[in-house]
Amino acid sequence: MIITDNHMHLYNHLRLKALKEFKEAGGTHVFLVSLLCHHYEVVPKSGKDFSAVFDEHIRLVERANDIVKTYAVLSVHPAEITVLGSRYGVEKAAEIMKEALEVAGKYVAEGKAVAIKSGRPHYEVSEKVWKLSNEVLMHAFEIAKDVDCAIQLHTESYNREGMEEIAKMAEKAGLKKERVIKHFSPPLVKDFEEIGIFPSVIASGNNVLEAASQGDRFFVETDYIDDRNRPGAVLGPKTVPKKVKELISKYGEDIAYKICVENIEKIYGIELEL
Ligand SMILES: [Zn+2]
Repeated sequence: MIITDNHMHLYNHLRLKALKEFKEAGGTHVFLVSLLCHHYEVVPKSGKDFSAVFDEHIRLVERANDIVKTYAVLSVHPAEITVLGSRYGVEKAAEIMKEALEVAGKYVAEGKAVAIKSGRPHYEVSEKVWKLSNEVLMHAFEIAKDVDCAIQLHTESYNREGMEEIAKMAEKAGLKKERVIKHFSPPLVKDFEEIGIFPSVIASGNNVLEAASQGDRFFVETDYIDDRNRPGAVLGPKTVPKKVKELISKYGEDIAYKICVENIEKIYGIELEL
């Protein structure tokens, strides 16, 4: 049986042990997402300097692959506008982020990663930062379109207008809306189907069962953060296997195959090694 966690991080807590726990619980495939530059003690002066972050992430993914099948997602986190902005000013920060996304796109084109990640701040920002963030996001969509890859998004909490706006931006960039994956989604499968972008449902509480009651057009994720200072934050690495097994006991194996294999292959445009 294939059980896929669509969004996890490994940082400084359990590291690869987290994937061993995931595997012991029944997990088989995982999408590992890179973190912000400061997590790697990289201070980028330009977008090109993100390659140090991406290279380190890819090395980790290679090691992770010995445990479960692991795919790299290269992120230019939307909060970089604040982190880098405090150092260089927000305009320069946005410029660096755009260039970094180009580097990420190049890695995907070379087959070193399967997707990029962008978004816009999930916290209150000035109008200026919001505008710049949307420009960075638009640029990310254009890159995903050029490279022909999926793009995960970290955004403000779900709200219909915001998601529709994002879907329109993707459309404008010529990117298929379904290749835009809203990370940390609520289980509103029907709404996402109408909006067009693809939900990666956070596997907390009854979310996975709730999502399945609305359809099978979704992924599941833990957003496991692996931070030793916040060991209980978000969800543990065993959560997705546990929830998918619960799902199977209620709805049967077909839906699990759909969300963990068929949807993944379709949206990312990859073939899962089984
Ligand atoms: Zn995350």
